[in-house]
Amino acid sequence: MISEQPYWNPVLETMDPEKLQILQLKKFQRIFQWAYDRSKFHRNLYDKAGICPKDIRSLEDIRHVPTVEKSMMRDIQRKDPFPYGDALCVPLDEVVEFHQTSGTTGQPVYQPDTWQDWEWWAECWSYILWSQGYRPKDRVFIPFGYNIFVAFWAGHYGAEKIGCEVIPGGVLDTAARILKIQELKATALMGTPTYILGMAETARNQLGIDPTSLGIDKITCAGECGASIPSTKHRMETAWGAKVYDHAGATEIGAWSYECQAQPGGMHVNDGLFLVEIQDIETGEIITSPGRKGKMLITAFDRFAQPCVRFDAKDVIEWADYACPCGRTYRLIKGGVVGRADDITKVKGVLLAPSAIEEVVRSIRGLGNEYEVLVEKSGDTDRIALKVELYPDAENNRTEIERELTDQLRLKTNLRYNLQFYSIGTLPRYEVKAKRFKDLRAKP
Ligand SMILES: [Zn+2]
Repeated sequence: MISEQPYWNPVLETMDPEKLQILQLKKFQRIFQWAYDRSKFHRNLYDKAGICPKDIRSLEDIRHVPTVEKSMMRDIQRKDPFPYGDALCVPLDEVVEFHQTSGTTGQPVYQPDTWQDWEWWAECWSYILWSQGYRPKDRVFIPFGYNIFVAFWAGHYGAEKIGCEVIPGGVLDTAARILKIQELKATALMGTPTYILGMAETARNQLGIDPTSLGIDKITCAGECGASIPSTKHRMETAWGAKVYDHAGATEIGAWSYECQAQPGGMHVNDGLFLVEIQDIETGEIITSPGRKGKMLITAFDRFAQPCVRFDAKDVIEWADYACPCGRTYRLIKGGVVGRADDITKVKGVLLAPSAIEEVVRSIRGLGNEYEVLVEKSGDTDRIALKVELYPDAENNRTEIERELTDQLRLKTNLRYNLQFYSIGTLPRYEVKAKRFKDLRAKP
């Protein structure tokens, strides 16, 4: 019975790492040749660097291939063919899907996919969902405003591909979505950590429904790091009485990483479909050993309309130094995506990753889910303020909470904060990508 099989692709997911590397080299050579032959943008980039497909004879050779930044993809959009520009490797007639990046700054990047690419997206998600225990008996509710952002579109098709029944929770508001979950007895849910926590609040406060009574037994998150931050994961799992799993993906890349049912404190990289390299942010050196954080450079082997070759994703990750008990040989990144290279900033000379603040805030009883961080300059000194929400029944323990918060923040981030307490419901709520970290210092 296929349902009893633990892996979506038992051959790739348990392949001997050395064999897998041979396959990765072959697949890299193929997509590199494809981009070199068919995209003016890629050809120019590689010619300028003096590198061509025959130069790639080992995985180490790949380190000489120039990386691609998001800003470069924005620039080519002014070129033909409209609207994608000259990284397009197929005739326009073969493009069947349009999406665009959801970044809050700058012109979005347009992303074309062929029918084959789109099927590949569903395949990427099949690995994710299968590893998280989704099976054909599941009824999956997707509370997502189906639109130009790729977000959960591929989750929808991936769930169908493995045989689940999918309920598109489209334009309904949050309360209506919860009632639909209840009416149809959905068993699984997808969403951003912020929205999943918000939904639980709405169920309890607006509808008087305890989310644990709804029968959701697994939740797949995306879009923010939260499901890999232990205290945020714990809050979601407690609120819903469900297992919560993380995954990582991006419009320009695909769905490249997933947390399996073993919840090993990190995510598997889908090494069969992607080449993930970690680069030291300061020296540019490729990190191959565990224990050092760096930014991810990624190649998607099997996406052809607009290839993703050594894309500088700005995600900060670290190799884990342990294997996963699930039996997959796919490599693990420790703690998931731990931040964005852009968000990691120096405050008072100390490197600060905003996810460390979230981990602390949500680990403290009596504090709400929302928080906001403000970094300002006063004279030559950085000042950092943290706004948190306090539950009414925690008001009496405020001094204790304040002390615990200060101690934990100093331990985890090496910084002192100006703490500001608000009552529950005061700070802004976010439906999609939350913007809780605000750096108000003037940029040079
Ligand atoms: Zn695993």
